Amino acid sequence: MPNHTDPTDAATASDWDAATLRAALAKAAEWTVDYRSHVEERPVFPAIAPGDVRRALAEAPPRAPESFERVLADFDEHVVSGLTHWNHPGFLAYFSSSTRAPSIVAELLVAAVGVNAMLWRTSPAATEVERTAVDWLRQAVGLPDSFSGVIFDTASTGTFTALLAARERAGAGVRDEGLVGGPALAVYTSEQSHSSVEKAAMAAGLGRRSVRRIETDAAFRMRPDALEAAIAADLEAGIRPAMVCATVGTTSTASVDPVSALQSIAERYGVWLHVDAAYAGPAAIVPEQRAHFRGWEAADSIVLNPHKWLGTSLDCSVLLYRDVAPFRASLALTPTYLESEDDETDLMDVGLALGRRFRGLKLWVLFRCVGTDGLAETMRRHIAMAEAAAARLVEGGVFELAAPVSFSTVCFRAAREGDAAGEERLNREIIARVNASGRSFLSHTELDGRYTVRLSVGSVHTEERHLDEALEALHRAAADLSPGEP
Ligand code: PLP
Repeated sequence: MPNHTDPTDAATASDWDAATLRAALAKAAEWTVDYRSHVEERPVFPAIAPGDVRRALAEAPPRAPESFERVLADFDEHVVSGLTHWNHPGFLAYFSSSTRAPSIVAELLVAAVGVNAMLWRTSPAATEVERTAVDWLRQAVGLPDSFSGVIFDTASTGTFTALLAARERAGAGVRDEGLVGGPALAVYTSEQSHSSVEKAAMAAGLGRRSVRRIETDAAFRMRPDALEAAIAADLEAGIRPAMVCATVGTTSTASVDPVSALQSIAERYGVWLHVDAAYAGPAAIVPEQRAHFRGWEAADSIVLNPHKWLGTSLDCSVLLYRDVAPFRASLALTPTYLESEDDETDLMDVGLALGRRFRGLKLWVLFRCVGTDGLAETMRRHIAMAEAAAARLVEGGVFELAAPVSFSTVCFRAAREGDAAGEERLNREIIARVNASGRSFLSHTELDGRYTVRLSVGSVHTEERHLDEALEALHRAAADLSPGEP
């Protein structure tokens, strides 16, 4: 590779020449394969303190170019050692996810072509590949062809965008008139739903107080009777219901709201139904999981994240909708310099952002290189591993389940009846010890006011032996912290 420290080198001053790029790609490819093969030898969570990485990096940018080898060496030494390794097979926290190999290569191709798909005309194939990939996902999860969609960065953006459309359909007229003087609106979602619903209400100008956190049953599912009562009370008070947001796969327990029952209520009152299936949505590809999704085919919008459980790299979140008109009614705006007569469904009209990454490519490549059977098999394996882990957790009598096991997510705790503070201390310390081992990584939540440990299987790299290791570490930590307990 040429030495790039000479700033007079014309090629360096503009861009790398072909030979330099080829050599850098080869090095990056070698690094990538090596990282993937050996990630398990690294601690899942780095043993570092806040500020350590910053201190290792130069304070100011270099004036002269440096060689890629040096940059890659620093990346390896100072950056990668400061990462939490989501692709580590022992990563079982939050909603565990991983990047499947084809998606890594697709991400490279996206960067290589470097297109901006803001309009069909600014990169026709990017729009059409996105439409195809979204439609393949729709077919794979068994939704009718009345749904089409768009790819955003995250589910938060998808839910926010759906709320803007719902707000418009509720007759608020905000696009042109703004919020002032408009009707008071309300959003209904369960007390277990993700914070992105509340955030969407904040950002859409409805305010947090417009969000009705509807009670859940003993299995953390939204209660239809409570939803109906809340809608009726609002109507009585002159407040206009704008959106019901049901969740299939809630953030803490992966519980499933009774979508069919909620849909009937939403339909009866003419309210927009949005389904947040950010985590669990891809599981509808697995035939025996399909029943969990009953009723979602009648929703107005659905969000699912291929970057959570399907294996595309972050970011790739799909928003599906049955009617594009309310989205266009809330967000379409075409200045003269963006006018074109090519296609009336430019994807910029459906969201806030104008510039659009070519995210469709990674979903399309993933489907082609893995196939829907392969994707289903991975998720089936994860669900089986989570169920087996749950059974083994309760077997020893030390841990109890805090919620029914749902999809690939297990919530549990070492119980200390009547001693809430002691129970929280104990479970916090158990998680801290397991995570400090560097071999497994767990997270927590709160259920019924009690501190709860979460374990979620979602990485293509995770095998049974990694769950064995996590369970052993959990039992060891519990035994060390509570000698004499069962
Ligand atoms: N919805 C649910 C059910 C989630 O669990 C999460 C995150 O975990 C989100 C939405 C937000 O996802 P994103 O990070 O894509 O905005």
